[in-house]
Amino acid sequence: MDLTMLRSQFPALAQSNNGYPLCYLDTAATSQKPQQVIDAMNHYYHFDNANVHRAAHLLSARATTQYEAVRDKLCQFIQARRREEIIFTHGTTEAINIVANGLTSQLKLGDLILIDAAAHHANIVPWQELAKRTGAIIKPIPLTTDCRLDSAAFDTLLLEKPAIVALGHVSNVLGTVNPVSNLVAKAKQVGAITLVDGAQAIAHMSVDVQDIDCDFYVFSGHKMYGPTGIGVLYGRFALLDSLSPLMTGGEMIKTVSFSGTEFNQLPNRLEAGTPPIAEVIGLGAAIDFIDAQPKAQVSAAEQTLLIYLQDSLKALGDVVLYGAHSDNLGAVAFNLAAEHHQDVGILLDQQGIAVRCGHHCAMPLMQSLQLNGCCRASIGIYTNKADIDNFITAMQSVKELLL
Ligand code: PMP
Repeated sequence: MDLTMLRSQFPALAQSNNGYPLCYLDTAATSQKPQQVIDAMNHYYHFDNANVHRAAHLLSARATTQYEAVRDKLCQFIQARRREEIIFTHGTTEAINIVANGLTSQLKLGDLILIDAAAHHANIVPWQELAKRTGAIIKPIPLTTDCRLDSAAFDTLLLEKPAIVALGHVSNVLGTVNPVSNLVAKAKQVGAITLVDGAQAIAHMSVDVQDIDCDFYVFSGHKMYGPTGIGVLYGRFALLDSLSPLMTGGEMIKTVSFSGTEFNQLPNRLEAGTPPIAEVIGLGAAIDFIDAQPKAQVSAAEQTLLIYLQDSLKALGDVVLYGAHSDNLGAVAFNLAAEHHQDVGILLDQQGIAVRCGHHCAMPLMQSLQLNGCCRASIGIYTNKADIDNFITAMQSVKELLL
């Protein structure tokens, strides 16, 4: 794998910050975009710009063909059974909202919703709102002291026969990977509906929704080298079809009259209004980009780099790592002694290093770690050893300054 060649495809990486080469370690927040994604979106706006579906003219036909081709690509990318199981959304957040809202009439007072205690707010708040509407009860699935999902506690909670189990595939803070196939299999045995938030998994591993066997799997385009404003809701057909739509209006109907409206079939039924067409096309280009890389080599290289990052931080001393395991993916969470994470982040930025600081939209996880926040360094396909070395050199000087 030629990493120099690969990096050269990401124009944003070739710049400096404060006189230092930009060292982008914030891929978990959003990934940089390869030129082919930018080009695909530009091409659409230059030549094919038209609304999709319905129209009889050339540009609309071209836009529609490209838009629907991405649905087919995604179907294959995550091994869905049929293309109608792929719904375009604006991101992971919207996808979870569609599910949580759509299940309202299927839940009743006292039903139990289990949520991964390390979940992102996007996989917590929509369920809390569902609980408010229905009288359902929410319980977190606790973590072990080393920040993995507590499998024994999960088994005990399953005895209460939850209606819904919402899991993260990979923690956006810690990078911990949940054994989702196993957890989903157990949840299914007690009849629960399962949703897996794959926002942090999709760029780092092959995802096979049939193998995971979850009912819903959701992710965002912008974390997998695609554009912002586009995400995917995969749903098992029958269950997806049973969701009442969150958004109604054009595109999602079959017939409308003032005596009533008949909704369209999937996937249109859950895609009201003009969709983010350029973004869908950009996502298609991102899938082409990922598919063109040697998968096994990429994941081995990312794994080596992540362990190097963890080990280098440990070797620095005075750094506290949270939930760092050798089988984590993509991210390392840390603090420098008792220093405020924001101070560390700002001082790193002065040396060209981009990391993220704060609660990372995972306040319950922060509470269980007894933290106000932490720093997170995260890697992508383009991250190289020099990025890590530059980061560690900068951390050394931050340490000398603050401690
Ligand atoms: N879940 C996880 C695990 C995430 O990392 C993120 C983004 N930080 C989200 C959900 C929300 O994704 P989006 O903001 O793209 O909707």
